[in-house]
Amino acid sequence: MTESNHIQIKLMNQDFTVEQYRELLSIAKRSYQFISYDKISFEQRFILWRHDVDYSMNRSLRLAELEYEEGIRSTFFVNPHCEFYNLLEKGQNKILRRIIELGHSVGLHFDAEYYGVKSETELDSLIELESKYLQEWIGTQIKVFSFHNPTPFLLSCEKETYGGLINCYSNFFKSSISYCSDSNGYWRFRRIKDVLEAASDSFLQVLTHPGWWQEKPMTPRERIFRCVDSRASFVMRSYDDALMTHGRSNLGELTVEFSFLKQKIGKKADLIDYQWMRGEFIGVYIDIWRIFESQLVKSCRIWFRKILGSSLEEVNSIFQSSLLTLPMHRVFLTIYQSTWSYITKSSEEDFLTWQKLRDDLVHGLHYCPKEKLEEGIIYIVSVMRHLSEFIESSPTSLPRLQNNHEIGLTEIESGEHLFLKWLIDNSVEIGIDDEMLKEFLNNKSKVRLSN
Ligand SMILES: [Zn+2]
Repeated sequence: MTESNHIQIKLMNQDFTVEQYRELLSIAKRSYQFISYDKISFEQRFILWRHDVDYSMNRSLRLAELEYEEGIRSTFFVNPHCEFYNLLEKGQNKILRRIIELGHSVGLHFDAEYYGVKSETELDSLIELESKYLQEWIGTQIKVFSFHNPTPFLLSCEKETYGGLINCYSNFFKSSISYCSDSNGYWRFRRIKDVLEAASDSFLQVLTHPGWWQEKPMTPRERIFRCVDSRASFVMRSYDDALMTHGRSNLGELTVEFSFLKQKIGKKADLIDYQWMRGEFIGVYIDIWRIFESQLVKSCRIWFRKILGSSLEEVNSIFQSSLLTLPMHRVFLTIYQSTWSYITKSSEEDFLTWQKLRDDLVHGLHYCPKEKLEEGIIYIVSVMRHLSEFIESSPTSLPRLQNNHEIGLTEIESGEHLFLKWLIDNSVEIGIDDEMLKEFLNNKSKVRLSN
């Protein structure tokens, strides 16, 4: 892919946000009357606004609400054979009923491939059958259908109705009403915004697929991933919640320690859970270490800023210097004047052994059986929990890293080198290598500490 291609794709992705979608609606309103499929009249300029729901009922509701706010009604074509949602599922069915409540219509998105349709005569009975089902399931009348993944054969079926439903791909539509669509989540033909702004078509059918329209710009594949991933998380959560509601054990879930992690890191825990369930234990082990270390670094930074009174510039320079590797757990123990075994109820030697395993795994040097990794994961999460309890009970603690003004630090003079002085005074206790410290001090101008 060339650089200019890449930029073009990025720009195109920015078109597919709900904010842009709202803009499309307001541009369309300026030049067109929004009408429904059963009330077509060529006396005035009109637009038929249609959604083929291929990927997401949840995104459909988002767009349905937006349209409602803009005073617009459209038609949502749903597919009973869709792999991405199930119309009979309680939550999804409720969404569709909510869309109807908002004043929108529902059409059938007919998947002919499901039946292996070979001739036009089969269409009538199958479409009639499906529209009956759909009406039963959602309690509203179905008047119109569109083909899902239309093949050349289906596009040659051009009668105005099949099975009593209006055919969106009939000869009538093709010859009298212009058409544009968001096709594959990028502009294959005309860009909808350009078509609406030009308003040169008097009668227009616009097709969108709700899954393509997201809160933030994403590539088409990211947008579909988001639809699938949200559904998968929802289904997994339903399983966990049901066991909890009925007081059953959830065998195979990441231990008691893990529920602490879930509370602490929120949605990131889903990713760890996912890796765990896929058997990617090395990934889980390394990720949890990373979270643990950022917890350590944050609590130390807070101490240097709030208690020692070091300037933000100095703290950043020292923490980010490539010349000095601070053994963070030693720094932590020194500032809080405590011991590892007191805080974590385990020995510092154990800690160093598990840390060494982490380093080996990061560098791809170590094979480790699942059982041992499990033990290590439980160990490090329990360390995190103890550390958290210790920090929270410490009178000098802050719950999280905050901005300077929030903790009253705007007045601190820079250049006092309080942190640096502290480092020199405590280097033996922390266990910083003398040579390393000297090298760091010799180069301190490079780390913006000269004065
Ligand atoms: Zn489709």
